[in-house]
Amino acid sequence: MQNEDINMQDQLPLVVGVDLGGTQIRTAVLRGPTLLSRVGLLTGENPLPDRLLPRIYIAIQEALDKAGATLEQVAGIGIAAPGPLDYRTGVIFTPPNLAGWDRVPLRDLFTEQFHIPVFVENDAHTAGLGEYMFGAGRGANNMVYLTISTGIGGGVIIDGKILEGVNGSAGELGHMTIDWHGERCNCGNIGCLESIASGTNIARKANEAIQAGEGIELLTFARTMLEHSSTVPDRSALPTQGDDASTVELHSSIFTRRDELKAGSQTGGEQQEEPLHVNARTVALAAEAGVPLARAIIQNAAEAIGVGLVNIIHCFNPEIIILGGGVTQMGPMLMEPALRVIQERAMKLPRESVRVVQAQLGASVGLIGAGSLIYYHKNIKV
Ligand SMILES: [Zn+2]
Repeated sequence: MQNEDINMQDQLPLVVGVDLGGTQIRTAVLRGPTLLSRVGLLTGENPLPDRLLPRIYIAIQEALDKAGATLEQVAGIGIAAPGPLDYRTGVIFTPPNLAGWDRVPLRDLFTEQFHIPVFVENDAHTAGLGEYMFGAGRGANNMVYLTISTGIGGGVIIDGKILEGVNGSAGELGHMTIDWHGERCNCGNIGCLESIASGTNIARKANEAIQAGEGIELLTFARTMLEHSSTVPDRSALPTQGDDASTVELHSSIFTRRDELKAGSQTGGEQQEEPLHVNARTVALAAEAGVPLARAIIQNAAEAIGVGLVNIIHCFNPEIIILGGGVTQMGPMLMEPALRVIQERAMKLPRESVRVVQAQLGASVGLIGAGSLIYYHKNIKV
């Protein structure tokens, strides 16, 4: 079966994937889930479309050259972009991470440049599509992808189709309400899953507790880590798997930039008493080491994720829920409470037919998902 899959994937047409991130843009030539080449660029300080788009076009050409391919051999270009966007017209609106972008007709601009089919889709949807076609979701017709990293996003596949809603906004799973008396989320809603369980908010809760004077033990732990890290170049102590961009962000550095500055000022001899800011990874490590505040924050996030998963099970009755993103790499500490909430609360029938698994595509999910758009829209069996 697996050999058949591989043989079939050898027959797939070449595609170009573009993963449009806030700080980094990746391009690749792919055949199915296989990256034949990849070329990345940093958005830099001036990401205005007029300046950035020509650089992306060049990156695509470089990726083609590196793969030894020509445009004529490519079935299309798939672009994974931050929302909000209109997947039907390929216009992206004002993504918070790309300053100066306002109603950019990405699909038409790329089509004018390359004269091959171009599809644009929300990046969480494409990641879900990638897992559906080539990752943990293969063979499932009803599937939910939930990515928990700095934010929380979702991609829902129903009967083999991406669930779009009336204007492509379906699947904002990070913004389902978990605590309706909770805190205000960035999106404007209250008590969203993201506002409780994203990496950013796990860190925020820890830092708020520290500022309120409740985090002495966590601070001591963080300081010890900081001292340790200044002598150890590789700071990745926890095993990482599926290190997508957000995972790298979560795992590559124990401390936030302000921590680095603090470390610098210590060695420079000038002591400014700036509070130490911890990130989600420090909180996770502290929780593993038994620091009560950290354990409580992770436990709370885990239960919120569990409640979110129950909601997903009840709304979509999926066969499989795929968890991606750095926060989900925390392991049993996070997953056991979440799965227990499912056992305790979800309805029997949908609960017994769902599997909750880890994502498989790792760091390349953005590019594989973007490329998958071509197979998806052209009905090419993978
Ligand atoms: Zn929200």
